[in-house]
Amino acid sequence: MTSAGPKGFDAPRYVSQPMLPDLDDYVDDLRSMWESRTLTNLGPFHRRFEAALQERIGMGHVSVWSNGTNALLGALMALDLRGEVVVTPFTFPATVHAIAALGLEPVFADVDPVTMTISPASVADRVTERTSAIVATHIYGTPCDVDALDAIAREHDLRIVYDGAHSFGRARPVFPDGDAVLGDVTMLSFHATKLFHSVEGGALIARDPEVDRRLRRSRNFGIASEDEVEGVGLNGKMSELHAAMGLRVLEMLDGEILQRRRLGEVYERRLSGIEGLRIVAGLGPSAQYLVLRVDRDGAVDRDAVHAALRERNVVSRRYFHPLCSVIAPYDRLPSARDLPNAERAADECLALPFHGGLTTDDVERICDAIAWRMEGGTRG
Ligand SMILES: *Cc1c(COP(=O)(O)O)cnc(C)c1O
Repeated sequence: MTSAGPKGFDAPRYVSQPMLPDLDDYVDDLRSMWESRTLTNLGPFHRRFEAALQERIGMGHVSVWSNGTNALLGALMALDLRGEVVVTPFTFPATVHAIAALGLEPVFADVDPVTMTISPASVADRVTERTSAIVATHIYGTPCDVDALDAIAREHDLRIVYDGAHSFGRARPVFPDGDAVLGDVTMLSFHATKLFHSVEGGALIARDPEVDRRLRRSRNFGIASEDEVEGVGLNGKMSELHAAMGLRVLEMLDGEILQRRRLGEVYERRLSGIEGLRIVAGLGPSAQYLVLRVDRDGAVDRDAVHAALRERNVVSRRYFHPLCSVIAPYDRLPSARDLPNAERAADECLALPFHGGLTTDDVERICDAIAWRMEGGTRG
């Protein structure tokens, strides 16, 4: 079968590709683990990784976890929440699962039509006597309206947990200044598909040292000391193998961000003039994802672009489709209806390949295919 229009790639181009350190360097780390026989339980690599992250993040109290989802569970546990938790539907399912898994009731609020982060007005609308917290995602690294959410939380005595899985990369995880930026706790994910990774991994940043203490306790089965178990906890500890990987990959991060900036410039130059689409993430302070929004009411929709790329071995991703409010565990909730801005975002967003393993020439070719499809090219 021959395809009309721009030629495809022989090997697939994915949205992300994990950075890998020099294998010999990692083997050196393994050798030192073999010598010490310390493989987990907050060993030397774990301590060094936590300290390196604390220094790079430069705010709050950082604890390292086995993955972002466990970290989020641990945070919600440590904050002793009850009843309802207001959450965005436009996020990865883990955000909502963490709430539901603890027997809390997720209540969806709509998102802002431009930033696609949770809308403070919609949150205020969903708060009841039974609400104990807000869980909000800094979507694609775009920060939530943290000041407005903070004001709502103060008024109703709510906790705020930020899912900052997309926020790591720069010196600070999120960009606005001020006390409100971390909420009570901010979660980071270091999964292999994220900008920065430790294969599997995550972190929590707590604003308050007492909350940090409770988070560390919930990371380790609720154990407070040799004689004392103080609360419900889980096993959220990161192994030495993962911490060593994180330390090595951290050294590569600034180079990766620089290469993504170069790729972002090509995407911007090639796509910014095309009617019906906009780049909504990847050019600003967060280099986590390069995301297009294709106007649902235009002549060519997002799924057509997604398919045209797939035919050319370019695997773009419709983050975050389907919305959490339409997936089986949550679609019957009363709050799962009337979320027009989130529904539109889920119909329009498309994450494109964006990682240091791509050349600017690869990006030119991806843009050729997008431009061709947007201008009415048809399937071959
Ligand atoms: C990746 C991701 C998670 C889950 O993090 P893991 O480290 O894979 O458990 C949660 N929320 C969002 C928004 C994510 O993108």
